[in-house]
Amino acid sequence: MNASVSDAGAPGTLYVVSAPSGAGKSSLVNALIKRLPFVYLSISHTTRPNRPGETDGEHYHFVDTDDFLAMVERGEFLEHAKVFDNYYGTSQVWVQSQLDQGHDVILEIDWQGAQQIRRQMPETQGIFIMPPSRQALQERLEKRAQDSADVIARRMKDATSEMSHYHEYDYVVVNDDFYKALDELCSIFIAHRLRLEKQQMRFGGLFEHLLNG
Ligand code: GDP
Ligand code: ADP
Ligand code: 5GP
Repeated sequence: MNASVSDAGAPGTLYVVSAPSGAGKSSLVNALIKRLPFVYLSISHTTRPNRPGETDGEHYHFVDTDDFLAMVERGEFLEHAKVFDNYYGTSQVWVQSQLDQGHDVILEIDWQGAQQIRRQMPETQGIFIMPPSRQALQERLEKRAQDSADVIARRMKDATSEMSHYHEYDYVVVNDDFYKALDELCSIFIAHRLRLEKQQMRFGGLFEHLLNG
């Protein structure tokens, strides 16, 4: 880059991605972070024991209840919730440090968590992933073969309530063809980085130089 160009960088953007269980949220987000090197996925803290195959620091940060509640007291979570018998939360410090470094950050959280985040950080961009049909949703939950029939039936019921909040989001992606949905998801992140105010922060020196040349 030309020496006269000042590239001070621009802070990253926080994204919340929600979907009914089985819509393909985790598959899409994992493919997205492989494609776009400037996007980072937030790992939640939880007090639930890790399941076989889950690694600390990769799927969740596993902590005990005393440590979790001490973190709540110290205001270390951007949002937190108790689900069944366990606590879950998103680290404020980690998210902020990534944004400060110019990285975009994704939170994979449900609509209630998304509402809490929006209240605290109104510039957050919301993305909702929809399945192409109820039947496809059911088939995907069955295909994933991770949950019992009871759990699948409950998740199908919960899906209706999760989906009823789709209009609170800025973007909606329908995950029918996986690679089309992935392209659409990536385009949201790329377009947002090209917004005028972000580009002025990154390329202010260049634009000044070009206009005064
Ligand atoms: P899934 O339902 O198949 O995606 O898998 P899980 O059983 O692991 O549950 C994930 C659910 O937890 C999804 O509905 C996420 O939206 C939600 N979730 C994960 N992390 C967070 C978080 O930090 N905050 C909130 N509020 N929800 C979260
Ligand atoms: P979520 O994180 O929303 O619960 P997953 O990413 O675990 O969903 O996807 C649920 C299942 O559906 C997985 O087995 C995944 O491979 C499959 N899947 C995801 N997207 C598609 C798609 N577009 N077409 C067919 N199957 C899909
Ligand atoms: P699991 O234990 O199956 O990974 O997640 C169970 C539930 O916990 C999910 O349905 C979701 O609602 C919730 N959850 C997971 N991670 C978080 C988190 O970091 N914060 C909040 N608020 N809820 C979470």
